[in-house]
Amino acid sequence: MSTTLDSALVADLAGEVSGSVLGPQDAGYDAARAVHNGLIDRRPALIVRCRTTNDVVAALALARRAGLEVSIRGGGHNVAGRAVTDGGVMIDLAEMKGIAIDPDEATATAEGGVIWAELNDAAAEHGLAVTGGAVSGTGIAGYTLGGGLGWLMAKYGLAADNLLTVEFVTAEGDVLRADARSHADLFWALRGGGGNFGVATSFTYRLHPVQTIVGGLIAHPIVAAPELLRFYRDAVADAPDDLTVFAGLVHAPDGSGAKLSALVVFHTGDPVEAERDLEPFKTWGSPLLVEVGPMPYPVMNTILDAGFPAGSLNYWLSSFTRGLPDELIDITVERFANVPSPMTAILFEHFHGAVTRVGVTETAVPHRKQGWNLLIPSVWTDPGDSEANIAWSRDTFAAMRPHFGNGRWLNYLGDDQAEDAIRAAYGPNYERLREVKRRYDPDNVFHLNHNIAP
Ligand SMILES: Cc1cc2nc3c(=O)[nH]c(=O)nc-3n(C[C@H](O)[C@H](O)[C@H](O)COP(=O)(O)OP(=O)(O)OC[C@H]3O[C@@H](n4cnc5c(N)ncnc54)[C@H](O)[C@@H]3O)c2cc1C
Repeated sequence: MSTTLDSALVADLAGEVSGSVLGPQDAGYDAARAVHNGLIDRRPALIVRCRTTNDVVAALALARRAGLEVSIRGGGHNVAGRAVTDGGVMIDLAEMKGIAIDPDEATATAEGGVIWAELNDAAAEHGLAVTGGAVSGTGIAGYTLGGGLGWLMAKYGLAADNLLTVEFVTAEGDVLRADARSHADLFWALRGGGGNFGVATSFTYRLHPVQTIVGGLIAHPIVAAPELLRFYRDAVADAPDDLTVFAGLVHAPDGSGAKLSALVVFHTGDPVEAERDLEPFKTWGSPLLVEVGPMPYPVMNTILDAGFPAGSLNYWLSSFTRGLPDELIDITVERFANVPSPMTAILFEHFHGAVTRVGVTETAVPHRKQGWNLLIPSVWTDPGDSEANIAWSRDTFAAMRPHFGNGRWLNYLGDDQAEDAIRAAYGPNYERLREVKRRYDPDNVFHLNHNIAP
């Protein structure tokens, strides 16, 4: 593939698009190519900061004419960093920020550069919400195309389960609207198939009435971890749809490096129900901190933000597990004792309720069983520590492997292109996704993603 760019083509493009066109010499180029994960350091030949769907069509046409690789950047939060191409054209949607809320129909239409903080705030003005990222800086685009798990999933399903329409640019440069009736095959694939099929320029979601929720953090000393995780496992077994609790081993946010065991709780019911359902979690053992109370839904999605600073170095591994047996809890505790970075956590995300009532093949997201997704988000800041952190993550993951189920959460896949990880993420939907890929992108123009080879 050629990596040179004809300056006449670039000049034509700059005249054609309403957004800016940045090459390596231009001011703003380095900021535009930076993504959340500071480990990613790639240099596109050209970054097209699109403002409109037509800009996307033009950028794509130029890349194809020049024979250059294409990458798509939504919110830039994917740890794998495939939003950035080395030597190709990065179609950057970060400036496509339009949001329209229709309170009567309870829908939101948002462009591909919107992040969850922005959509949550806009919907909250009308007392509405949809499932979004647990960290507010995550982009709606990559997140939704990968399924999108979050605090509201037990009540209302994944972000992808709430999608109504996607405006979309195909590899051929056609602009389509995919929904349950038109391009239904594509619409199915966009709900969990990632960035494989084209550029999604806007998303329309079904919203739900959500205003004040009850949520927050409960922290215990690390010595309580084995018992806390056992209590947690049993306590969420029959959790109602209104209640979601994630558990984990974390570090104190005060910079002391102290290890803690913790629960993050979230409840959408009325205050009486919330108090009843949260009481056992608040009163178990001898907590160091119980910071749980009513808050607007958008605030809940910021309480973990500080743990994931932009530009920090990230290496993530994750897998669905087969339950949360004592042995897995013990391995978790043992491995966390030697974690090299005071920013790293081991988290268990509980799936139950609405997300588990959608059929395995109903959308492209097959992960519909009640249980846990294990996430090991390793985060550090000194590049000199990369080797130690990556090695610890891999060894920890390997030690836990006997307890893994078959599934992997697509959005959390790192730069781990192993075919078995990708197969595990798409599960039984892989072959059908491949048929859709052949129909809409037979040349695999969109391959900087967790790729479904046509
Ligand atoms: C701190 C942090 C917290 C997170 N929390 C959650 C969480 O709570 N739940 C969850 O499910 N995931 C979570 N994730 C994972 C996150 O959802 C994925 O990394 C997702 O890809 C991010 O979307 P983005 O638009 O920001 O990503 P980008 O890096 O911009 O894009 C990722 C990939 O998605 C595709 N893509 C992006 N935009 C488009 C588009 N408009 N059209 C077509 N393809 C596109 C491309 O293939 C691109 O390489 C989190 C990640 C981080 C770093």
